[in-house]
Amino acid sequence: MQTRQLSAFFMLLIFSLSSWSSIYSPSQLAGDAAAQQPDITQEHWYHSWATITYDTAQWANNHPEIVTRISAGTTVLGRDQWVVRISDWSVENKSDGSPKELVYIDGGHHGNEHLGTELAFLTAEYYIEEWLNGNEEVMEILRNTEIHLLIMLNADGNDIDNRWNTNAVDLNRNYDHHWTTDESRSGSGPFSEPETRNNADYMNEYMIDADLYVTMHTGTWILAYPWGFTGDMPSDYEMYEYIRDTLHEEIDPDLPVRNANAGIYPTHGTSRDYGYGVMGYPTFTFETDDEQFLPGTVESLSDRLSVELDVMKYLISNVWFWRARLEVSSLVMSEDEIHLSVNNLGRASTSNASLQYVSQSGEVAWNSTNFSVNASNSTMEVLNAVNLTIDDGGYFQLFYQKRVINAAIWVAEPLENITIEIEEKEEKSWLGMFGIMDLSSYLLIWLLCAVYIERKNERAIG
Ligand SMILES: [Zn+2]
Repeated sequence: MQTRQLSAFFMLLIFSLSSWSSIYSPSQLAGDAAAQQPDITQEHWYHSWATITYDTAQWANNHPEIVTRISAGTTVLGRDQWVVRISDWSVENKSDGSPKELVYIDGGHHGNEHLGTELAFLTAEYYIEEWLNGNEEVMEILRNTEIHLLIMLNADGNDIDNRWNTNAVDLNRNYDHHWTTDESRSGSGPFSEPETRNNADYMNEYMIDADLYVTMHTGTWILAYPWGFTGDMPSDYEMYEYIRDTLHEEIDPDLPVRNANAGIYPTHGTSRDYGYGVMGYPTFTFETDDEQFLPGTVESLSDRLSVELDVMKYLISNVWFWRARLEVSSLVMSEDEIHLSVNNLGRASTSNASLQYVSQSGEVAWNSTNFSVNASNSTMEVLNAVNLTIDDGGYFQLFYQKRVINAAIWVAEPLENITIEIEEKEEKSWLGMFGIMDLSSYLLIWLLCAVYIERKNERAIG
């Protein structure tokens, strides 16, 4: 192993030095067909903060129609934490007018986990290059999705091939979610470090509505979902298990997909648990296989991380499904109740849904009782509507949480393209006449019972 690593090191050193001179040559800086550094460097030489800075600037400069770059803040030593934002910026919203789907990705919490950082880079590179290649599927995704990637979170640690940041804090124990001093190097308090604070600030400022967050590491080969702090299954276990089963079926039956507590080990104050428990996102820690103390890899990165990249493509292209998506198929109103037929097109359940009536003045004038709709399921709800008054210009909306987890955000979605059927009491024939609340049916049932009991008694006597 040692020999292999050593020879790999020298091999890398030779071809990297030979290609290094071309990286910053004037022709490259002028911006030609290459999206960033030459492929041979990208594929074998791990990024430093300097090359991440260079490459992401090239992307943004050469392809502003799909790439913008912003700094989420700076590290302890003042290095920018670059966020690359990829989307088709010629369109602000989706074609139906609704906001684009949001995906958040970060890499490099641990400065010595290079393949995790490279997976974030490779994911960005894939969408940029395929868009340039005219890949229709990718162009469609970028018309409907914004992908934000903070590729190297811990630039100071990366620079000295160190797990921790400059203050010797383990950044993935420093988040404000079940933070504890029991974890080693968790910092002087939750978010004591600028690197984690900036990441959380970015989420809170730009990514509130995200329906996917993947944080990239190396170590055990695993796609881990919450929780780390407890062995309990996450509230949205159905969605996670659906994703697990689909990945096993469609991409790799051997990829471990499970909760982090059991699949890795118990951890507190991680960005994954924060993303799920505080932000309410579907979150994953993607740990690629491990490799440290090497400046690069002999096998190309696209080959080494091909399964991981396929998983990322699957998670991103299906982001629309990672929440509850309620759709009303019929709404029938009678004098005192509403029969509501609801489909959930998403893969997450919701447990606090209600139907609301918004009056002409824009106020929520009526709230139904809460109901649940399971992932990709349908339900028929009978809602008490005694206190509901309909006015001209008012409308119905569904109010619900995107997922079961408490932190999941609430959405209010007006019912569109739905005909509200009004059922007049007088028009009900059989059902109305024999309805339980109807006095005449009470009398009728009473009479029938009386007759039945009398006959039974007669028989008993006879
Ligand atoms: Zn890590």
